[in-house]
Amino acid sequence: MDGSFGITTSEAGEAFQRAVDTFLDTALTDELRAAGRATTGLKSAPWACAAWREKLHAQGWYAQSWPVEHGGAGWSTEQRLYFENACAMRDAPLLQSSGIRTIGPLIIAEGTPEQKARYLPAILNGQHEWCQGFSEPQAGSDLSALSLRAERDGDDFILSGSKIWTSFAQYATHMFLLARCEAGSTGGDGLVFLLIEMDRPGITVNPIRFIDGDHETNEVFFDRVRTPAADRVGNIGAGWKTAKRLMAIARSNNTTTGMLRRAFRAAERGYRDSGYADPALQARLAELDLRIDMFEALEVHAGAGRIRIDEAPATSVLKVLATELHQAITEIGIELAPNSDFALAKYFATRAATIYSGTSEVHRNIIARAIGCP
Ligand SMILES: Cc1cc2nc3c(=O)[nH]c(=O)nc-3n(C[C@H](O)[C@H](O)[C@H](O)COP(=O)(O)OP(=O)(O)OC[C@H]3O[C@@H](n4cnc5c(N)ncnc54)[C@H](O)[C@@H]3O)c2cc1C
Repeated sequence: MDGSFGITTSEAGEAFQRAVDTFLDTALTDELRAAGRATTGLKSAPWACAAWREKLHAQGWYAQSWPVEHGGAGWSTEQRLYFENACAMRDAPLLQSSGIRTIGPLIIAEGTPEQKARYLPAILNGQHEWCQGFSEPQAGSDLSALSLRAERDGDDFILSGSKIWTSFAQYATHMFLLARCEAGSTGGDGLVFLLIEMDRPGITVNPIRFIDGDHETNEVFFDRVRTPAADRVGNIGAGWKTAKRLMAIARSNNTTTGMLRRAFRAAERGYRDSGYADPALQARLAELDLRIDMFEALEVHAGAGRIRIDEAPATSVLKVLATELHQAITEIGIELAPNSDFALAKYFATRAATIYSGTSEVHRNIIARAIGCP
């Protein structure tokens, strides 16, 4: 890749690009770049995330796609892609904030004025970190089988049950969750989408460790946890509709071009350091580079509204393509640098990408239905 980021260059203004380049060249210290380079999972080390978030927030660039009136940068897709690529090429820390990516945009779209005032500034300044409480032991692909109970008691709900696979719950101050508020209801009926504080009495977070010892996901138990009924998005009983909107947002930015380019750079670096010279592997690497450009083109189409990203099949396509490409890059990463622990850690870290936010099989079912397959 020549660093011009294909189609993004022609469409983004030169002044914008200069401003981004100048900012990144000044703001990214050697320590921050080293932390970015050392990242194997979805987030860089907590200290690096905090330091980088602070610098981006001070510049007004932390929430790149949020509207300006809510504290975002209000950037177009081309501008966001230019910024992400420029960050990737300089090994900036990887933030991957659930508040910025998923629940913030949902609150902007559907939250009450009070929720916007309370939650959006706290996401931007890093006071609030969010996690997603959807999956349960008996409700994964079939999410509507969930059974966390939300019993009404005056102005509150009382939550009883558990969630599983909750990413980064150990750092989260808040969780958005889906609970069953109508006893006896089944499927997507009778659910409520709640926003809750993680320090409420009765919440316990237990770690689930990955095969490589990493700790990203958790079990979260709710033992009669009291939380205000007003802290919900959408109507009581209509939580499924809100969750579907949230999932469409989450799938549309699950794995971005910037993340793919970081993984690609890491694979290239590993290859260089390993001293290998294998033309066949080099050809496969070049093909992956092209596939990243193609995915970027798709992101631009989606951002320009030429693909309806509020529709499930389109977000399923984005999610499947990006996560499978991410895996292909880290797979070749271990072939290019077979003795590298780092390449191996990156390989393991991307295995779950085709499981979370809906498995590839489930998304292929959605796409198949959309194109009329039986
Ligand atoms: C690393 C990681 C992080 C996660 N983070 C979160 C999080 O933060 N919050 C959260 O709520 N959840 C999270 N999840 C949970 C994730 O969303 C679920 O694991 C996923 O939806 C699959 O559910 P399941 O694990 O119960 O598998 P199952 O639903 O039991 O599926 C098992 C297998 O059957 C296949 N299958 C199931 N149904 C069908 C079908 N209809 N057609 C074809 N194949 C099918 C699946 O593709 C899969 O291969 C995370 C998971 C992982 C691994």
